[in-house]
Amino acid sequence: MLIYDLDFPELRELLKTWGEPSFRAKQVWTGLYKNLWQSPEEFSDLPKSMRDKMAENFRFSGLIPTLKLDSSDGQTRKTLFKLEDGRQIEAVLMRYDRRRTLCISTQVGCAMGCTFCATGQMGFTRHLTSGEIIAQVMYYARLLQKEDQAVTNIVLMGMGEPFHNYTNTMAAIDRLNDQDGYNFGARRFTVSTSGLVPAIRQFASEKRQVNLAVSLHASENELRQSMMPVNKRYDVHELIKACREYVDATGRRITFEWALINGVNDTPEQAYKLAQLLKGLLCHVNAIPLNPTTGYAGKATTREQADIFKSTLEQNGIPCTIRTRRGIDIQAGCGQLASRANS
Ligand code: SAH
Ligand code: SF4
Repeated sequence: MLIYDLDFPELRELLKTWGEPSFRAKQVWTGLYKNLWQSPEEFSDLPKSMRDKMAENFRFSGLIPTLKLDSSDGQTRKTLFKLEDGRQIEAVLMRYDRRRTLCISTQVGCAMGCTFCATGQMGFTRHLTSGEIIAQVMYYARLLQKEDQAVTNIVLMGMGEPFHNYTNTMAAIDRLNDQDGYNFGARRFTVSTSGLVPAIRQFASEKRQVNLAVSLHASENELRQSMMPVNKRYDVHELIKACREYVDATGRRITFEWALINGVNDTPEQAYKLAQLLKGLLCHVNAIPLNPTTGYAGKATTREQADIFKSTLEQNGIPCTIRTRRGIDIQAGCGQLASRANS
């Protein structure tokens, strides 16, 4: 059993069946999530017999790094991990200014099939468990700890659709958020969805302080459908309605993501239509020039087109940032490394 798959009550109950006193669960939890220990020997405050039993019963890693790539920008590190069943995922650490942002995966592959996305192009293999999601964070937390640093932000924007793996994703977030454990602030998480409307509603009703990003990429059904098959199930209007309900229920601002593709969704007309669609909604648009992927012919927008897109949105009342592409040399599209490794 992967120890990160257990929540605190489950761990407590399990240790009880071992005949351990109740305070042991707290010791293990502190060792795992506050001290970032990763092997039974490190739990020096536990008796040897219990450490042995932990070694027999638990696995402490869940993943091993098989490839580490540093971008020439000096700020981006991408790691390919092998899971216990041999499948591979990737996670990225970005060191921008004082931030230490982790981008982590929630699935091996993805079932949503967005045409422009490397993960979508590989198809769906399986969900990650909550422990496998947590293990990515623990790996980087330890790496940064050695430099007296810590993770400051976590974005669930790696491989996979977090809202398709809703239960495990939320369990991982809640476990990492636990004040007696890793104590990672809810506001420093961002979960990104391609627009699974019922999950957006559920997320709104649960009122976590976690940030929500929605991948929009097109404001009209015909175009969005051609890029994102999920739009056939939940169309743009239904999606935006759910987003408005989310903002009403939580008072939180939504981020809309938009990959700028040359001649496809980067024209001033598109920006204007998007501004009309989002009118009155507490939101901002995060636009990023498309990362090229092997399975998609579209090209990134130009700098000039991106600037015009941004100013058109802003003139129409919608704040927009153009994300600079970093780590392109090692990244070449989110999910690309792992999609190659799994094939
Ligand atoms: N499945 C979730 C989160 C993972 S994808 C989602 O789709 O929101 C993270 C972000 O990367 C999404 O906004 C996605 O649309 C975007 N993305 C995917 N492929 C891309 C590409 N080739 N270039 C730029 N952004 C891309
Ligand atoms: Fe899946 Fe997100 Fe890629 Fe679409 S963009 S295929 S939802 S990972």
